[in-house]
Amino acid sequence: MFEVVIGLEVHVQLNTKSKLFCSCPTSFNHKQNTNTCPTCLALPGALPVLNKEVLHKSIMFGKAIDATVNQTSYFDRKSYFYPDSPSAYQITQLYTPVVENGKLQIDFEDGTHKIIRINRAHIEADAGKNIHDGDISKVDLNRAGTPLLEIVSEPDMRSAEEAVLYLKKLHSIIRYLDIGDANMQEGSFRVDVNVSIRPKGDEKLYTRVEVKNINSFKFIQKAIEVEVARQSEAWEDGVYDEEIVQETRLFDQVKNETRSMRGKEEAADYRYFPEPDLLKAVITDEMMATYSQIPELPDAKRDRFVKEYGMSEYNANVITASVEMAHYFETMMEQGITAKNAATWLTVELLGRLSGDVNITNTHVDAKKLGFLVKRIEDGTISGKAAKEVLDKLVEENLEVDGVIDALGLKQVSDTGAIEVICDEIINANPQKVEEYKGGKDKLFGFFVGQVMKASKGSANPQTVNEILKEKLG
Ligand code: ADP
Ligand code: MG
Ligand code: ZN
Repeated sequence: MFEVVIGLEVHVQLNTKSKLFCSCPTSFNHKQNTNTCPTCLALPGALPVLNKEVLHKSIMFGKAIDATVNQTSYFDRKSYFYPDSPSAYQITQLYTPVVENGKLQIDFEDGTHKIIRINRAHIEADAGKNIHDGDISKVDLNRAGTPLLEIVSEPDMRSAEEAVLYLKKLHSIIRYLDIGDANMQEGSFRVDVNVSIRPKGDEKLYTRVEVKNINSFKFIQKAIEVEVARQSEAWEDGVYDEEIVQETRLFDQVKNETRSMRGKEEAADYRYFPEPDLLKAVITDEMMATYSQIPELPDAKRDRFVKEYGMSEYNANVITASVEMAHYFETMMEQGITAKNAATWLTVELLGRLSGDVNITNTHVDAKKLGFLVKRIEDGTISGKAAKEVLDKLVEENLEVDGVIDALGLKQVSDTGAIEVICDEIINANPQKVEEYKGGKDKLFGFFVGQVMKASKGSANPQTVNEILKEKLG
């Protein structure tokens, strides 16, 4: 009887070399407060200068979500005091963001789709970090001034499932474009979830609660579920108006509940005004033309895989969901192998053998190697069963495919002469069975194949065995 309404705000750290308004590096894991300068420390008199790379990446994102890219956008000053922000304001874009009116498609398991509208994406500067250490708190300003793209959806999602699908697609697009590393644990893809409920059929929006900074897809799903439950119960108990107020809440992963953090500020509290230290941000026609050339995105790649390789939509989705997986697969295909085998050997055999910190980007078994292994099955050098043994070895040690095949003695015998000798032996040893087979007991063919394979200790190429036996048994 309730409908869930969700809108998402995502802060993506853009992977530029230097910060948004100064030339300090954005790199991670440096000694505290070393990647700083008068600008990002907000010393009096230091002035910001816009990093153009941020506009380039914004154009790419705008194109990817089919949005309007504003060739002129403006910066605004949002005032608030917090120890990790030495200027006591944040430079952001309130009135005219760089990207507006985009959309993103989410795909359900049953093959249906839904469009989620994206209201805007704007550029802003990140704050530093407060580090709490027992009784004292320390401030690290290495991150202060790092560029963020804040991506704000319309309240178009109707369930936790839809929200997670949206976030996964958005994450995938950022990675395909390579405009950010979107690492949720490290905070380069930060999600704020806005949740409200309303009676089914009602068009108006009810009071929303913002749940902040949840760092995994699983916890986002959970946070939404418990928040929806809290709001629905308040409604049913007749205390909705008192208990559900516009505020910011934190999700507690241990207690599986949301807790009030602070009342929600209104825009007026931030005393927004046009940033006086910066000129308007201008995207030239030339920049626009250059950065509108974006790589193939997950949806397009999936559709192409389905069409070009006859792959199921499900498999194509699995392979194109991550850019690393898609590129791995495409490199395998350069060996001229079939898509079906490439997909199975990647998603079942290889992934099934990787664990812990090892993944497809850092295993010894790179795409060329795995592609070549599949080629060795398809050209009859080894059987699929033998290839599994080879792969076990390859995952363990950085070795070459052919070397391992030789070392383990797994090469199939395709030499017809040698196989013929074995076939003759088996036929001569089983006159009774030969008679029965010739008398119409077709099923016995499998018996002969089995015996030959066994006698060859599995090394005979089964296809060659089949051909020779067919000929000899008539
Ligand atoms: P603010 O800038 O104050 O955070 P916005 O109007 O920009 O507020 O909205 C922030 C996010 O909240 C957007 O993603 C929007 O879709 C979402 N949102 C707005 N109203 C609701 C609502 N009633 N229920 C759920 N989400 C909402
Ligand atoms: Mg907000
Ligand atoms: Zn700096």
